[in-house]
Amino acid sequence: MKIHEYQGKELFRKFGMVTPRGFPCFSVDEAVEAAKKLGGSVWVVKAQIHAGGRGKGGGVKVAKSLDEVREKAKQILGMQLVTHQTGPGGQKVRRLLVEEGADINKELYIGMVVDRVTQRVALMASSEGGMDIEEVAAKTPEKIHKIFIDPGKGLLDKDASEIAGEIGIPDKSKPEAVKMLQGLYKCFDDTDASLAEINPLILTGDGKVVALDSKLNFDDNALFRHPDIVAMRDLDEEDPLEIEASKYDLSYISLDGNIGCLVNGAGLAMATMDTIKLYGAEPANFLDVGGGATAEKVTAAFKIMLSNPKVKCILVNIFGGIMKCDTIAAGVVAAAKETRLSVPLVVRMKGTNEDLGKKILKDSGLPIISADNMGEAGQKAVAAVKGK
Ligand code: ADP
Ligand code: MG
Repeated sequence: MKIHEYQGKELFRKFGMVTPRGFPCFSVDEAVEAAKKLGGSVWVVKAQIHAGGRGKGGGVKVAKSLDEVREKAKQILGMQLVTHQTGPGGQKVRRLLVEEGADINKELYIGMVVDRVTQRVALMASSEGGMDIEEVAAKTPEKIHKIFIDPGKGLLDKDASEIAGEIGIPDKSKPEAVKMLQGLYKCFDDTDASLAEINPLILTGDGKVVALDSKLNFDDNALFRHPDIVAMRDLDEEDPLEIEASKYDLSYISLDGNIGCLVNGAGLAMATMDTIKLYGAEPANFLDVGGGATAEKVTAAFKIMLSNPKVKCILVNIFGGIMKCDTIAAGVVAAAKETRLSVPLVVRMKGTNEDLGKKILKDSGLPIISADNMGEAGQKAVAAVKGK
C-alpha cells in the first residue's frame, strides 16, 4: 500500500524527523488559507498523487504571494498529471500539499528497502539527490552508498554518521543527519514498510537537515497490524479492478495488454505472462487465484478480467495440485455462462483429475479452445487476439 507525501511527512514527524510545515488541501480556497496560516513569503504548492516525478511533470510549483498560491493551486488541482511513473494517461490531482518554501543549499538522497539477499534493510544514500536519482543509479552507481542494517542492533550512530559524511553532510550538521537516518529506520521498521525514500533530503542555507519529500510503501501482509496506516489509504489512487480483486482475496495486477490470464500460483502466473510475450502479445493482467479457489472466486476473477475493455481473449492456465482440475473446470464453466463470455477462451489444465476437468469443459458446449501444454496455450491465445 502507498500513501501520499503529506501523510508520509506526518508519519516522519512522529518519528522525530524534520520536515517543512504544511497542510493538505482539497480546494483552491483551502490552499490560500493554508498559506496564510503558514505565514512567511514563499510557499510550495505540491500535487499529491501516488507517483513520483511530480516536479518535472509540473505538479510542484513555488509561489511568492498569496495570489500566486491561488493561481498555482488552480493550475494543479484537477490537472491530469503525467509523470514517468503514472503512465501516459496520467493521474488526476485531487489533493494538494501547501508547505513553506525551503532554502535549499544541497539536495541529497536517502532511501531504504528490504534486501532479500542479506535479509536486512538496505540503506542507500547519495549526495546526488533531487529529481534524477534513477539516472544517478544507472550512470554513476558509485555515487550511491549502501549499508545493510543489522536488525538486532538497528542503525548505529557510527554507521549513520559515516553515511552522512559520505554524502557530504558537514560535521556541524551530522547530529541532525544521524537523527534523520535513525528516524527513517525506526519509521521503516515500526510501520512494516517495504520502501521508504526521502528525495530530496536537503541541507538548508543555515545547515539544517530537512526531509523535503516522502515516499512510503507498506507491506500489505502486515497491514492488519496498522489500522492507522490503513486509514490513510486513498482508493482514488488505486486501480478499481485491483480494489475489486482484493475483496475476493485475488492477487490481481492490471497490465496494458489484451490477453486476460487466470492462473493458480504466482510462479505459473509469471511464466504464463512470459509465454504470452514470447509469442508476440501482451498480458492484460497478472492474476493468481491461489491454491484454494472456489467457483465464486473464479467467477469474480472472470468478471474482473472482462470488465477491462482491452481484454480480447482469456487464457486459463491451471496446474491441479491441491486444487483439482474438475473444480476449476466447473468454476470456469459457471463463470463463462454467468458472464456470457464473448471473447475466445483458451484453457490449459494439467494434474489432479485432469480428465474429469476436460470432460466438464467439453460437455459444457462452450466454444473453449483447449491446449495441452503451455506453449500451445500461449500460441492459441496470441492467435486469437491477432485474429488468426
Ligand atoms: P517529486 O519527487 O515528485 O518530483 P518533490 O517533492 O521531490 O516531488 O519536489 C520536486 C522538487 O521541488 C524538489 O527536488 C525541490 O527542488 C522542490 N521542492 C519541493 N518541495 C519544496 C519546498 N517545500 N521548498 C522548496 N523547494 C521544494
Ligand atoms: Mg522527490
